[in-house]
Amino acid sequence: MFKAKAQNDNTIVNLKSKYWKDKRESLKQINRSQGFVCQSCLKKVVLAWAANPKTAPHFRHNPKNIDCDQNDESTEHAKGKELLYEYFAEKYKDIAEEVDIEHQIPQTGQIADVYIKFKNGQEWAIEYQRSNMSLDTLIRRRELYRKANIRDIWIVGENLARIQKDDSVSFKRISQELISNTSFGRNCILSFNPTTMKVGIYRSISKINSRKYRAYMHFYDLENIEFNLIGEPFGYRDVIDFKGINYDFVHSSRLTMPDITLQKSDIPAYKFLAVQEYTGQIDETYINIPNALMKFIPKRCSEIDLEVEIVYSHKDIHKVGQFFPVKVSASRWRSKLNEKKMDRFKETDFTRWWYPISQLYSMATLESRFAWLESAVPFARQRRTLYDKKIIDHLYKPTDKVELIPLLSAVMCILKVQSKDVLVEALDRDFIRKTDEEISNVFIIELMKKVEVICVERFNALGKGRIDLVF
Ligand SMILES: [Zn+2]
Repeated sequence: MFKAKAQNDNTIVNLKSKYWKDKRESLKQINRSQGFVCQSCLKKVVLAWAANPKTAPHFRHNPKNIDCDQNDESTEHAKGKELLYEYFAEKYKDIAEEVDIEHQIPQTGQIADVYIKFKNGQEWAIEYQRSNMSLDTLIRRRELYRKANIRDIWIVGENLARIQKDDSVSFKRISQELISNTSFGRNCILSFNPTTMKVGIYRSISKINSRKYRAYMHFYDLENIEFNLIGEPFGYRDVIDFKGINYDFVHSSRLTMPDITLQKSDIPAYKFLAVQEYTGQIDETYINIPNALMKFIPKRCSEIDLEVEIVYSHKDIHKVGQFFPVKVSASRWRSKLNEKKMDRFKETDFTRWWYPISQLYSMATLESRFAWLESAVPFARQRRTLYDKKIIDHLYKPTDKVELIPLLSAVMCILKVQSKDVLVEALDRDFIRKTDEEISNVFIIELMKKVEVICVERFNALGKGRIDLVF
């Protein structure tokens, strides 16, 4: 622990504070004379502060006291607590009245790993948990915080939430108890690894058996997460585009307002005052943030990107103001959110086998049918037909990745081209420009268009009727 009470004058010594940082000698002196006691159990503790310390200076019970809340902690716990304290102290220095480590809550007597009192009166206690404390103790401590009107935020160590080989997560009993409801979907738990400095946010957790769980999980650097106004954690991967109004008449355009500051407004009809500085001019607008986006407002409510749509001719426009917010995010996430947008583009269903197989099926059955696209034929049957006709070499699943050679081989089969070297043939026919072509949505669509033109020409030449290109 980093705090203890000096026996000579009952001062609380905080080894993390600036005041005591360079006072090793005088602390050693107290340690030798009257000594220190634990602020929780009042039993004797000793100062561990070597001249060239390998671990951060701290106090420990002497002799050990396993009944104390401030039970002698592991190095990882001390490190994690210290990092979390530094993170919150820095992050909320503008809006907090006090950020403290090992803070004794006067109303309940318990000691919070990290404690924050905000200038608006709100209080948070952050508890970093790495050991499997009893469920009774946990429930009692949470109840005390609730009675004292303090928001308790529990973060478990990575040792209590282990990812298994099959991507499931093994949550220890205490973690299971800490899985709680959140505005970001079903439920959530937070983990922190003090060695890698990574925070894990687990969401939509569901039970497989008594230990194993499925969860959506994302890992962020500690400094890259935010807590919202009610103390729920979120990262840039949680940010969404929001469509809250069904327009009667759509005439909207999108506008991003960077470098905006959101302030809580005292006008009840509006929740926030957006203050924007632009070429020396200060612009103030009242903005009503829809409930669905409220959860994305960071506790430190400044430097926010607010994406708004300007909606004309909407019947509710006098109620919501000129702008309708569709996205709120921390400004520092701007580049990460752009990357995320690109990821989504790369991962659309078009790049899987579903689209090429539907197209190949249509083309393969062209000569015997008049209908160009038979959308009613189930994917499984299309796939089976292509496989039986030896056009595709195995029964791809819709989620299988498309690869260049099998795709080109299938195209050659459709066109009844016998080719030992599909790549050479595909280059000759201008299907690809180079042999290391990247398989993307655009590439597949372009290739299918080229093949379609050839197929339609052939069909029309048969004299069974005429069909037109779909694209
Ligand atoms: Zn103690």
